[in-house]
Amino acid sequence: MKDCIFCKIVSKEVPSKGVYEDDMVYAFHDINPVAPIHILIVPKKHILGIQEMQEEDEKVVGHMLYTARIIAEKLGIAPDENLNRGYRLVFNVGKDAGQSVFHLHLHLIGGRQMSWPPG
Ligand code: 5GP
Repeated sequence: MKDCIFCKIVSKEVPSKGVYEDDMVYAFHDINPVAPIHILIVPKKHILGIQEMQEEDEKVVGHMLYTARIIAEKLGIAPDENLNRGYRLVFNVGKDAGQSVFHLHLHLIGGRQMSWPPG
């Protein structure tokens, strides 16, 4: 989509530090990380956000979650057999939730102790 920063990142028109790519998704380091590891997983198809997700998008959204698991393991932040370590997965949906880029993305955040509730 014209003027969408994440579409430009997916097409490599705008550079990014990629960590994973396949035919459905692209994952790259967030430019303004909130933790030692902060990855964005985006569908190659332009979807505005979860608020615009259609039933036909279930496969790609599920694949985004599975991709997060694979990347977390690759980066060494997946929970161990005692369920120590870990990471957070976040979809910000709408402006009040903190969404600032209107191309669907899943935040994979880890490498530090998280607190709850989020701000
Ligand atoms: P949101 O606030 O919409 O949930 O998350 C958007 C995220 O995209 C933010 O964490 C922001 O730092 C990141 N971001 C925005 N523009 C760029 C960019 O041009 N490159 C990269 N790598 N990340 C970006």
